Amino acid sequence: MDTVFDTGDALGPARVIHVQQAHLGLRGILVVDNVAAGPAIGGLRMATDVTLQECQRLARAMTLKNAAAGLAHGGGKSVLIADPHQAPEKKEQLIRAFACALKHESDYIFGPDMGTDETCMAWVKDEIGRAVGLPSELGGIPLDQIGATGWGVFHATDVALPYLNIALSACRVAIQGFGAVGQHAAHYLCDAGATLVAVSDTGGTLYDPDGLDFSALRALKRQGHSVADYHKGKKLAADAIIGVECDVWIPAARPDVVNGSNVAQMNTRLVVQGANIPFTHDAELALFNQGVLVVPDFIANAGGVICAAVEYRHLSQQVAFGTIEEKVRDNTAEVLSNARRQNIPPRRAAEVMARSRVESAMAMRRWGGF
Ligand code: NAD
Repeated sequence: MDTVFDTGDALGPARVIHVQQAHLGLRGILVVDNVAAGPAIGGLRMATDVTLQECQRLARAMTLKNAAAGLAHGGGKSVLIADPHQAPEKKEQLIRAFACALKHESDYIFGPDMGTDETCMAWVKDEIGRAVGLPSELGGIPLDQIGATGWGVFHATDVALPYLNIALSACRVAIQGFGAVGQHAAHYLCDAGATLVAVSDTGGTLYDPDGLDFSALRALKRQGHSVADYHKGKKLAADAIIGVECDVWIPAARPDVVNGSNVAQMNTRLVVQGANIPFTHDAELALFNQGVLVVPDFIANAGGVICAAVEYRHLSQQVAFGTIEEKVRDNTAEVLSNARRQNIPPRRAAEVMARSRVESAMAMRRWGGF
């Protein structure tokens, strides 16, 4: 898998661009993976530990996600190797400089991702005239504020649960990461009657088999605290959420959090991947062999990019919610039914579906991908 990304494969990457400006402390990378279906949409991630390999894998995930969602967009990703919690004026300078450096890469449309938000996209738009995930004041649909991805994760969960004969109202949910995706997924699931038994953030895990109070936890986060600071429930280490007994486990934090070293701890029946590439390939295969159903990232978390594509066409928030619901439900149903019929992991079924759409788009382009 990783060697494919060292050299590229039939789908991409089309371009890899490194941006450095030592006196600003600017170190960034853009990977445009495939643009056969249209300009690439993909988030800008800001983190101190982000790598070229992570960027390439995320760019490919966007190619497949956009194709799976049936969008007229290819896949790309950009990363800034920097602390997202640094002084705001310094962060703004880095993001503006990075955007300027990529001004002429018109095949790439910036969106928000971990460590960046709507305000960051406003800076990008101000510099280069194109970005999605903008604040509403700039005509955008603020996808993190409205919970576009969490809305899709909720629908993917709702479609998958009947495969395990679990009612939504009876299901116990654990969520790793309580940011934009995790909080909104929790919100929609709790509203529909699910019980939130565990949540985690970098500060730790909070666990209560009788159910956690979602609104109280959201308020705590808004005050800048960790979920582990809540006065009720059992406090555990951040990684302990992996072994929590539940029906649905939702990763909404970092890549590769479940891997060969900890997959045996998992105690769930369904995984709905809110985060991008949260499990290693081996870990996902081990779960498949144990009968744990995994709705893969680029099917379950497509809500954000569907919303971005709707925004790019200047359509409304209402249209975005309706489109996310329809596309995520349809794609989850198609993937799970193909996977069950062929007895293959859902990710495999999803990749076959998405790749065939990318290849069809490439066949209609003179040079294939650009
Ligand atoms: P965010 O920065 O808003 O939230 C991330 C959360 O994860 C925070 O609560 C943080 O404390 C927590 N976290 C980080 N490392 C952790 C760890 N080791 N253990 C437990 N918690 C940890 O980010 P987000 O926008 O919610 O994105 C989360 C994931 O979902 C990322 O993988 C992102 O690529 C993916 N994603 C986001 C969107 C979107 O619309 N925002 C869309 C698709 C996919």
